[in-house]
Amino acid sequence: MKVRYQYRIYPTPQQVKGLNQLFGCCRVVYNDALAIVRSVPQGEKWPSNAELQKLVITQAKKTAEREWLADVSAVPLQQSVQDLGAAFKNFFESRSGKRKGSKVGLPRLKLKTANIRKDFLHKTTTQLIHENQVVVLEDLAVKTMLGNRKLARAISEQGWGTARTMCEAKANRVNDREVRIISRWEPTSQICSDCGFRWGKVALSVRSILCVSCGTEHDRDGNAAKNIEKSGLGLTQDSKWTKNGRKTRMSGNPTALSSQPYSEQIGLFA
Ligand SMILES: [Zn+2]
Repeated sequence: MKVRYQYRIYPTPQQVKGLNQLFGCCRVVYNDALAIVRSVPQGEKWPSNAELQKLVITQAKKTAEREWLADVSAVPLQQSVQDLGAAFKNFFESRSGKRKGSKVGLPRLKLKTANIRKDFLHKTTTQLIHENQVVVLEDLAVKTMLGNRKLARAISEQGWGTARTMCEAKANRVNDREVRIISRWEPTSQICSDCGFRWGKVALSVRSILCVSCGTEHDRDGNAAKNIEKSGLGLTQDSKWTKNGRKTRMSGNPTALSSQPYSEQIGLFA
């Protein structure tokens, strides 16, 4: 039986610097090795693990562009090249049916963590704006309203703000696209999206709600999402909503967003 332990370390600021430097070097070595493998013409033999290590570590250290690789231990760098080899092995074995489970994709370039999040948010917001004429967002920090764990994780308080800015910027570049923001004070999780009955505040741990008025059983997030949509589209004429001072703000001010450097992503719409 294999046992997996998880540790949390508390490095000093100096150690953090050292670790970041090391992780950065590992990423570069991995990406360099991947670039070499990819540049091999079809039908020609790929370099061996040892040959790759020689190219992206030993010889690279002697060049001006990669001389800083000498500042970190060579062992984790060699491990990076081995990791790439393992990733390719998994890829080929999953294609030839030698490996159980789903198919594995080709190894990809390693990005910085912040870039991975940004990349994910870009893809998600591009898809959202591409597929929907109107996107309604709730003006709040963290709420896992989308039953998507990956997205929920990516939406930290900061991530949420970024996602919103990306949505707005992308909507502004495309005709017939609009992002609407509804106030965080709207009781989107306190009202039945079917009949409008207000059941009041419900603890976050309650994931499913049975409406005592109409008998509909709702998924908490699904119900809130429907209410957000209704509110954003101006479909809530109910007095229960308006007495809360509903404010629906429409975004679409090109002057305010023109400084956002998202033009490269907008190319995806073309
Ligand atoms: Zn109801």
